[in-house]
Order: sequence, then C-alpha cells, then structure tokens
Amino acid sequence: MRERTASLDASNRELLNEIDERKQVERILRESTARYYAVTQSANDAIATADSQGNIVGWNRRAEAMFGYSEEQALGRPLTLIIPHRHREAHQRGMNRVLAGGASRVTGKAFETEGLRSDGSEFPIELSLAHWEVGDSRFVSGTIRDISERIRTENHLRVAATTFEAQDGVTITDANKRILRVNRAFTEITGYSAEEAIGQTPHMLSSGRHDPGFYDAMWDSLVRTGNWQGEIWNRRKNGEIFPEWLSITAVRDAQGQITNYVGTFADITERKAAENEIAQLAFYDQLTGLPNRRLLLDRLRHALAGCSRSTRSGALLFLDLDNFKTLNDTLGHDVGDQLLREAAARLTSCVRQSDTVARLGGDEFVIVLEDLEGPDAHHLAAMQVETLAIKVQTQLNLPYLLDVGTMGDTINRRSHQCSCSIGIAMFDGQPVSAEELMKRADTAMYQAKAAGRNAMRFFDPEMQAAVTARAAMEADLRRAIKENQFVLHYQAQVDADGRVVGAEALVRWLHPERGLIYPTEFIPLAEETGMILRLGRWVLESAFAQLAAWAARAEFAGLTLAVNVSAQQFQHKEFVSEVFGLLDRSGADPCRVKLELTERLLVHNVQEVIEKMLALKARGVSFALDDFGTGYSSLAYLKRMPLDQLKIDQSFVRDVLDDGNDAVIARSVVALARSLGLGVIAEGVETARQRDFLADSGCLTYQGYLFSEPLPAADFERFANSAA
Ligand code: C2E
Ligand code: MG
Ligand code: MG
Repeated sequence: MRERTASLDASNRELLNEIDERKQVERILRESTARYYAVTQSANDAIATADSQGNIVGWNRRAEAMFGYSEEQALGRPLTLIIPHRHREAHQRGMNRVLAGGASRVTGKAFETEGLRSDGSEFPIELSLAHWEVGDSRFVSGTIRDISERIRTENHLRVAATTFEAQDGVTITDANKRILRVNRAFTEITGYSAEEAIGQTPHMLSSGRHDPGFYDAMWDSLVRTGNWQGEIWNRRKNGEIFPEWLSITAVRDAQGQITNYVGTFADITERKAAENEIAQLAFYDQLTGLPNRRLLLDRLRHALAGCSRSTRSGALLFLDLDNFKTLNDTLGHDVGDQLLREAAARLTSCVRQSDTVARLGGDEFVIVLEDLEGPDAHHLAAMQVETLAIKVQTQLNLPYLLDVGTMGDTINRRSHQCSCSIGIAMFDGQPVSAEELMKRADTAMYQAKAAGRNAMRFFDPEMQAAVTARAAMEADLRRAIKENQFVLHYQAQVDADGRVVGAEALVRWLHPERGLIYPTEFIPLAEETGMILRLGRWVLESAFAQLAAWAARAEFAGLTLAVNVSAQQFQHKEFVSEVFGLLDRSGADPCRVKLELTERLLVHNVQEVIEKMLALKARGVSFALDDFGTGYSSLAYLKRMPLDQLKIDQSFVRDVLDDGNDAVIARSVVALARSLGLGVIAEGVETARQRDFLADSGCLTYQGYLFSEPLPAADFERFANSAA
C-alpha cells in the first residue's frame, strides 16, 4: 500500500509538476502575447503578422490606419490583401522560402516597396520582415512604414539641389539678409567666391544706380507679398556694373515668421545689349545717332498729350539744309554725311536736354520744343521759338570743315557753308495730330524756302486755309483731267491794220461747281504736281485739231496758232516725239504752229533745249518767247536760241505811257528783237494810245482787249471774219 502510495505520489508529483509547468508556459505566453499586443498596438509603424498559410493573424492600429482595413476586416485574410498585384508572385516566393525555414534574403533587412490601400491606391513603404516560431507554428511579421512624405521631401531636395546648381545665380540669406549660401553660378556671375559672400548681405553687389526708394519698395513688396521680381543693376567684383533679372522669395516658418530669403538671378547683359541694339536700330538714325521719325512721332504724341493737360505750349521746327543736294552730288556722299553729322551735333547743342532733335532722313531735321509759354501768351512763345530758330540758323551757317580726301599723308579739307530753311508750327492745348503738325511745319518750311532760303516761316491759320484749299483743288484738278473739264479759248493776234493774223490758245477749266476758272489759278498747281504733262498734251491735241479744222476753211487757213508750253512739259524727254505724233494724227500744218516758251526754260540744260527747238523747227514749228523781260535770261543765251518772236510782257505794256522806265524797256525789246532778227508782239494792249506808242517804237503786232478778249472758238471765228 505504502508502495502504491509512494508510486502514486511520484506520478502525482510528476503530473502536478507538468501542470505547473504548462500553467507557467501559458502564463508566460499570455503575458508575452499581451505584451506583444500592447507593443504592436502602440507602435508607430504598421505591423502585420501572417501565419504559415500566409493569412493575417496580427494587425495593429497603425496598420488599420495605413491600409484602411479594421482588425476585424483584416484578420484571417491573406496578406496579399495589402500587396499590389505586380508584387504578389515575388511575395509568395519569399514567404515560402521563409516558412520553409530557409534563411531569407529579406528578413532582418528593411527594403522599399509599395503598399496597397483598401481604396486601391498605392503608396511607398519601407518594409522589414521578421520570422519566428511558437511550437510548430511559424509566423512572419512585417513592420511597415509609410514613406510618402520622405520620398516627397527627397524629390524636393533633388529638385532644389538641381536648381541650386543651375545657370541662375542663387543667394540664400537668413532673415537678417546675411548670406548663408550661394551657388556656383553666383560666383561665375558676380566674381565673388562662396567664402567671400557668406556672412555678407546682398548689399555687397549694389551698383549705386538705384536710389534707396528702389530698395525700400523691394523689401516692402517682399514683406507684404513674399515676392519681388525685377531688373536690377548690380556690380561685379571687378567693378563692372551689369543688369540682372532678380526674383526674391521670402521663406516663412510654420508660425509665419520669415526665416530666409532666396534670391535667384540671371545676368541679362546680353539680352539688354540686344534690346538696346534693336531699340537703337528701330528708333535712332544710324548716321547721326539722333532719334528717327518713329521715335520723333512718339515723343511728339507725348508732347501733344502733355500740352493738352498743362498750360504750356510747344513748337515743332522743320529744318531743311539749303542746297545740300548739290554738295552731295559734287563732293560725294561721304562728304555729305560728314556735314549731316556735324549739323546734327550743332543742332543738339542749341536745345535743352528735354527738347528733341530728330533726323527724318536726307537733309531734313526736326526739333520739338516743349514747355514754352502758355497759349495765353502766344506771342511770347513765338518769340522764344524765333530766338531759338535764329540761334540754330547762326550755328548751322558757320563754316563746316570737311575732309574731301587724302593726298599722300595730308588730308584735304574744304570749308563749306550751308544755310537752312525753317518752318515752324506751334502747338498748345488744341487737339491736333502729330502727323498734322508735321504737315504744317513742312508747309511753313516750303514757304521759307520759297522766300529765298536761309529763312524761317511760322505756320499760321491763313496758311492753313490756303493749304486745305490747295489740297481740295489738287483733287479737283486730278478729276478734271480725267473727266476732260477743259476748253480752249482763242485770243486774236492782229497786225498794224487790225487784221487777225493768228490767235493764242488759252486754256480754261469748266469747273462743275465753280464755273470758269482761269489758268493763273491752276497752271502753277498743275506744274507742281506734274499734272501739267497730261494737261499740256490735251491742249496741244485740241489746238492742233482746231488748226486742222481751220485749214479746211479758206478764211482761217492762213492763221497761226500760238500754244503755251510749260517749261516742265518742254523738258520732258518725249516732248518732241509727242508733238510730232500729235501733229501727224491731227493733220495740222506744223508751219502754223507757234510754241510759246518762257525764260524759265533757260535755267537748265540750255543746250538740250536748243536741240529740241531745232528738231521741232526742222518740221516748220516756230517759237515765241512769252512774258519777255520778266525773267532773268542772259542775252548770251537768248542769242543762241532759235526763236522767231519776242513777246513784250503785258506788265510793260500796261505802264508804257506813264512809266518812263517801262517805255524804255518796251523800246529796248523792240530794238533787241530787230537786232536779233526776230519778230515782236506786244500782249495786253488795252488802249489805242498804247498801241500807237508801240507802233511808234516799231512793234507792229498786238494782242489784247483793245482788239478782243480770249473767246470760245465759234466767237473767235465770228470776230476774225468781222475784222477781216
Ligand atoms: P500768257 O501766255 O501771257 O497769256 C496772256 C494772258 O493775258 C491771258 O490770261 C490773257 O487772257 C491775258 N490778256 C490778254 N489780253 C489782255 C489784256 O488786254 N489785258 C489784260 N490785263 N490781260 C490780257 P490767261 O488766259 O488768264 O492766261 C494766263 C497765263 O496762263 C498765260 O499767260 C499762260 O502763261 C498761262 N496759260 C494759259 N493757257 C495755257 C496753256 O494751255 N498751257 C500753259 N502751259 N499755260 C497756259
Ligand atoms: Mg502765252
Ligand atoms: Mg504772256
């Protein structure tokens, strides 16, 4: 019994020990599980544990937050739940290796991969795996860290680092503008090394070109908006001042306090130079460096706008060098250019800094004066301008010393004098366009030229009215030529017995509104505009047609017809062939045609004129010199001209009885004509006493109201018949 008891005791003790042991293990297990649970639940990283089947058996709170599955949803599901599809196969292989007990390449190491959230989105994670066993069971635990933020920061840093070493200079300062860091480009652009720059303020680069207000505004904008951008002039270490495009950003901490300033800048010297060059080409005259027409118009518009707002006035001076073309033609363009440059310098020296001197091209310059006396003191302003214009003329009139070439070592210099004509247009608050003002000054300048050069003229409203009327007239005349609004009247030329020997054809304009207009009103305009060529051709054509018609009637067949020809018309290179063509077509007898030329024709190319006259004379055409005595032809030329008749101008005839001088001239003309073997006719004969005086002097052919006014063809024919 005792034995049995003893053996029972022993087995009991064993059992009890065993129970104790198991309890102990269970307690430890419970404790460690609780500890594990507590530890994992409070961990900062997500921890997921899977059993050997790969199913989730542990899921902490961070894992819930990170992946979007609650513990309840996760437990028992395969771990692949949180692994993107493309990684699942590799994951499975790894898991198998680990669970088979093989040392894994992955356990104990952290590596980066991606996790998959319950909403399907992926995110970068850092994963460390561990495996462990409890009894026969193997487990794998993954500690997972969301590294999205770190990756983002890294990317930022990478971008920042790249930027920092970019082409642009970068300066980073603290809140007190002390430089903390600069990049390589900073050193390349400014010449200062990082060591030299760090600890300084960006003031070390200041060029002195900006006033304190500039920097105040810059810092003000930085504090208010956190940004500033603009062009700034800085100074390099070598002293060179250069333009840069600078942008500064203020960096603030979480509390909104400025901690740093980051400035990036690009050297824009080249861009600036290119910009300047373009501006120079676009807005300045290359020869003289003065503003060109474009810049002038721009400034003028500003001046006009400024004037309309103030009580001051201004003036536009239009200058043209007199006879510049002659200099250019005789001594060459290089010499002409020298003169223009010198003239430009003199002009600039005459005006204030605020005034504009521009070159329009050729020998035309313009001065814009601003800030003169107001419109209520018109004459004062005009006097100011006149004073300046006189100064300009005096300056420009001084001799120019021009290089006209080199001879060995010596430079040939020639002194040249050059006057200028000035037209002036004033402006005040009245609305007027820049272009209109230019036109006014230009008009005034032409008046100055017409007044005999080295003169100045103000544009005034009367002048303006004349200009406007002229413009209207020009348009009318153009239409008149196109629509043939002209007629010829015929004024009789009679002999000593009062018999009609011929006629002078005089053109009239039948204006649709204004009625009959006399040639003194439109011939000069036609000459100026070149329209005289077409008009003159029409006159010749009509006159020849009339002659041809008369040739068919016995009573008129012997008449000569005088036709006025403008100098410009005669000088046209096709004139002779044109006359021949018209003669042929009309069938008029050239021997009945007398062309009236004026002394103006004798100013240029006398030889050519003579040759043309001879060519026409060869076909029988004759010539009269109209308005004789009023021009300035020299007797020498007159002798060479193949003329047939001199026409004593009506101005002498008019006063021939009252003015002894005119009487002498009339007599001299007759004597001269006789000595040259020419005929002579007096025009503008209005009284019998005038005719008698002329007859006494030896002039036996006449034209004038005493006999007949210019008449339409039919009236003339009637008169001629009655006078026969
Ligand atoms: P002109 O050739 O000297 O013509 C004479 C002008 O004197 C004409 O004026 C005529 O009407 C005017 N006249 C004639 N007799 C008298 C008189 O007794 N007393 C006064 N006070 N005047 C008289 P008109 O027709 O007005 O022509 C003026 C000028 O126009 C002409 O002067 C001529 O230079 C030019 N002209 C006329 N027709 C033509 C033409 O077809 N072609 C060109 N190029 N010029 C023309
Ligand atoms: Mg005439
Ligand atoms: Mg005349």
